[in-house]
Amino acid sequence: MNLVFLGPPGSGKGTQAVRLSQAKGVVHLSTGDLLREAVKGGTELGRQAEGYMKKGELVPDALIIGLIEDKITGGELNNGFILDGFPRTVPQAESLKTMFEKNRIGLDKAVLIAVSDDEIVKRLSRRWFCPTCQAIYNYPTNVPRKEGICDKDGAELQRRPDDEEGVVRNRLEVYKKQTQPIEVFYQKESLLVEVSGEDTPDNVFQSVLKAVG
Ligand code: AMP
Repeated sequence: MNLVFLGPPGSGKGTQAVRLSQAKGVVHLSTGDLLREAVKGGTELGRQAEGYMKKGELVPDALIIGLIEDKITGGELNNGFILDGFPRTVPQAESLKTMFEKNRIGLDKAVLIAVSDDEIVKRLSRRWFCPTCQAIYNYPTNVPRKEGICDKDGAELQRRPDDEEGVVRNRLEVYKKQTQPIEVFYQKESLLVEVSGEDTPDNVFQSVLKAVG
């Protein structure tokens, strides 16, 4: 199973991608998670990406394509994968296609999780995450057992700095301008399937399972 997950920030694509990767035993690769780790670790990549991320802008294509290329040539995607948050621009989608062709990897589907702008702003203002295991919580639909504490490892939950409303609005604009055109790209390749993300996580998961077959 080789999939790309698409959707605006806050669509729940990360949550669904993790669930599906666990259910199917394939690798989940989130470029946002990789970049946040790089920022936290103070690596060269992290230093270069941090400023863009804080403003809700995309990091330059060359940086992110290099990151994915390392994973592909390292063989990490050989036994099935879900790419989450990549590609985010048409040049990234084109590069990915070339990298797949070179490495004889076939893409099965691009799954778009669709959610309206108002719902996104509402959701992200209530999103918390665990800095240790990356688990996501949402008030009031998915609350931790103990207020502010991760159920899985007891770490103190945090807010993502780019989930503040002004930054969220910018991320939505960036999504429309730079990322939405790749929906057309995958439509032309006959790979695009769309799922409504405006339902409970369990119901969305059922729709995702149906869409990927
Ligand atoms: P995410 O966790 O997917 O929402 O990503 C958080 C931030 O990381 C984005 O707002 C971008 O600044 C950066 N980022 C993640 N993936 C990409 C990508 N494929 N291309 C450019 N920037 C990215």
